Amino acid sequence: MINRRKFIGAATAAGMMGILPKSVRSMGKGLSVRRELPVIISTWRHGLPSNDAAMKVLEDGGGVLDAVEHGVWVPEADPENRSVGLGGMPDRDGFVTLDASIMGPDGNAGSVAFLEHIVHPVSVARKVMEDTPHELLVGEGALQFALEQGFKKENLLTPGAEKDWKEWLKTAKYDPVINWENEPNKYHDTIGLLAVNKNGDVAGACTTSGMGFKMHGRVGDSPIIGAGLFVDNEVGAATATGMGELVLKTLGSFLVVEFMRNGMSPQQACEAAVLRIVHKLPENKKFQVGYIAVNKNGETGGYSLQPGFNYALYQSGKNVLLDAKSYY
Ligand code: ASP
Repeated sequence: MINRRKFIGAATAAGMMGILPKSVRSMGKGLSVRRELPVIISTWRHGLPSNDAAMKVLEDGGGVLDAVEHGVWVPEADPENRSVGLGGMPDRDGFVTLDASIMGPDGNAGSVAFLEHIVHPVSVARKVMEDTPHELLVGEGALQFALEQGFKKENLLTPGAEKDWKEWLKTAKYDPVINWENEPNKYHDTIGLLAVNKNGDVAGACTTSGMGFKMHGRVGDSPIIGAGLFVDNEVGAATATGMGELVLKTLGSFLVVEFMRNGMSPQQACEAAVLRIVHKLPENKKFQVGYIAVNKNGETGGYSLQPGFNYALYQSGKNVLLDAKSYY
């Protein structure tokens, strides 16, 4: 009997190469079930209050880009959240450096990477998108741009994060642990949030302090459009969390959206993108990666390499935390 995982992988590879008959390549097309809109979906438990904030924007008549931006503001501004914005874990030299991206229904996108001192990097990313001819600004240049735009320079290293860093310095051993994002001391995590408004317009945002105690200058998947986040208003959107290097090497969020374009449901597409990591990157066994996705019909999905990934889904008046199925 064909194992389902293998079948998806085989069908996907063949379909992408165009060697399957058209009827099979468009597997799933037309079968998509229309779900209630609007819908908001986001990574991890901090997605619950973020979804609330995003839904409120939509309910108040705001735009879908405002919804995703305001949604991720919640963990960005939370000093207790060790994985995003203020209070995020520093790198191994004690600097809190942030990565963020945002993408809207018109295909426009903006990102910042290796940005210090700004509580809301997602809003700087939006400014890059709307007020510059560029897509990505990094480091000092991104900070200079943010300050010119009126953002306030702040110290993001909270006493709690500094204490954790000093504790880590005692051994200074960088040894990523699967799902350490769920540990009481959070080292590694991200909020990726996707929204489809009632008209079917799609947007997404992704923001993180990246890996705790990373090398100074390390940039993850989150600010790279196609890796940590991708939106295509004709299809849907996807975002990633976990070991950014695995997502970068497979251009994960773009892959999920392309799988959906080729007829997969969001759930199938997330599974196929995780399978790509399993097949291509031997280091996959050691790390976590989680994908979430939504299509224009409001169908959603989530899947991860390792058990332990969860995501928040706000649809039909309910905002719930769901445990994703995993490959291992
Ligand atoms: N993907 C992020 C990064 O690698 C971190 C995470 O989601 O845990 O920077």
